Amino acid sequence: DRLIAAHGQPGESRIDHAIRPQRLADYIGQPAMREQMEIFISAARGRDESLDHTLVFGPPGLGKTTLANIIAAEMGVDIKSTSGPVLERAGDLAAMLTNLQPGDVLFIDEIHRLSPVVEEVLYPAMEDFQLDIVIGEGPAARSIKLDLPPFTLVGATTRAGLLTSPLRDRFGIVQRLEFYAISELTEIVSRSARLLGVTADRPGAAEIARRARGTPRIANRLLRRVRDFAEVRGDGTLDAAIADSALNMLHVDRHGLDHMDRRLLLAMIEKFEGGPVGVDSLAAAIGEERDTIEDVIEPYLIQQGFMMRTARGRVVTRHAYQHFGMAAPTTPDS
Ligand code: ADP
Repeated sequence: DRLIAAHGQPGESRIDHAIRPQRLADYIGQPAMREQMEIFISAARGRDESLDHTLVFGPPGLGKTTLANIIAAEMGVDIKSTSGPVLERAGDLAAMLTNLQPGDVLFIDEIHRLSPVVEEVLYPAMEDFQLDIVIGEGPAARSIKLDLPPFTLVGATTRAGLLTSPLRDRFGIVQRLEFYAISELTEIVSRSARLLGVTADRPGAAEIARRARGTPRIANRLLRRVRDFAEVRGDGTLDAAIADSALNMLHVDRHGLDHMDRRLLLAMIEKFEGGPVGVDSLAAAIGEERDTIEDVIEPYLIQQGFMMRTARGRVVTRHAYQHFGMAAPTTPDS
């Protein structure tokens, strides 16, 4: 697996348990979102109501699941978690809904991947706390209606644009998570190091932060790999020099790019004259899924100014040519 993949990897959840922030006060970064959620949560608590349904969107690894858990903790309720692809049939969702206690959080990850029949069941549940479901088939089929306890649906998705508009309209609160600043990631790495019992100095934590693609999950993963290096090649202390050599050895460059990013950018430069090129052609050229390019690889490259998305397709920027020590073409076409 890719070292800097933003998706979770096998075995990570156990370690993650120790370092995942539990309360809003421990959630580093995303100041605007945090301030709003503090107000919405304390208002709902003051009225003794469940929190409005909340949609959280943003690239993988930025803290959507963490936020859902924090919402439940701050509201003093339980959380039940599932995901869009797991809820195959209407009955799967009905089972989750009828299992909720008043005020509980139902967390649906990858909510854009719900099937249309399941989505239909979700609408009245979100709107009126009503379960409206057909059981059986043919002449024996009958429709049943059940009252549900009030609950808070927290939905997570990588891109808000993937949701159907009737679903999107049913969320009272919509939060977008942004890539983290290096200073915030430095704080996250320092905090995780402390919790894992690793001695890391500030420049060491900052070096990891700089190469973590604005993503806490990647920062925590790089921290664990650099810790190994510090223990075997050094005296266990994680400083900037150790972090730099470890990450170079792991082929994570000074901007946090790895071979996959380089392959994508180089394909655009070498095979498509810098673009514009459609995402499907790009996917075929580098042998990656289109979704992986759109969700995982390109958001960070765009945010860092290595490439742009235009109406006619993707184009690389001068910054990308500079990164590879190449001369940019003299007639920029964007
Ligand atoms: P997502 O659901 O968006 O893919 P997660 O919530 O699973 O991301 O976050 C990945 C990991 O990164 C978390 O388990 C947590 O350890 C860490 N993390 C995420 N956001 C923060 C944050 N704001 N502060 C500290 N650590 C964070």
